[in-house]
Amino acid sequence: MSEFVTLEVHTNPWDAHITRGLLESEGIPVLLQNEHQVWANWPFSLALGGVQVQVPANALTRATAILNRRNSGEYQQEVFDIPATGMRCASCGGTRFTRDVNWGQVVLALVTLYWSSVIFPPRKGPMKCADCGGRPEA
Ligand SMILES: [Zn+2]
Repeated sequence: MSEFVTLEVHTNPWDAHITRGLLESEGIPVLLQNEHQVWANWPFSLALGGVQVQVPANALTRATAILNRRNSGEYQQEVFDIPATGMRCASCGGTRFTRDVNWGQVVLALVTLYWSSVIFPPRKGPMKCADCGGRPEA
């Protein structure tokens, strides 16, 4: 069993778990140190040195390379490159879609924010073809 070394430190467990998920999806085992102490007592995070993402020392080089790819935006581009599977525009047959702004929901969110000081985020609008503005086939 290899010794675990700290690869990255986060002040909150959510970010540490996102990094853990990425590394584990690439086959690298991960330990999160101080996670439960931070969940139980949030202000202790800085005093404990944050939530530490630890990997085996023999996987450190590979894990660092994965985080460098993440930091360069490589994974983000892969997410944007995923095609909308199974959807085609009814007008032109295109496969690229965007979302319409649902102005009624935006106005409702602003009114409720003004009226009750509570934010209800507006729902996403319907999909429309990025090429011609048509709707997807049913
Ligand atoms: Zn279209």
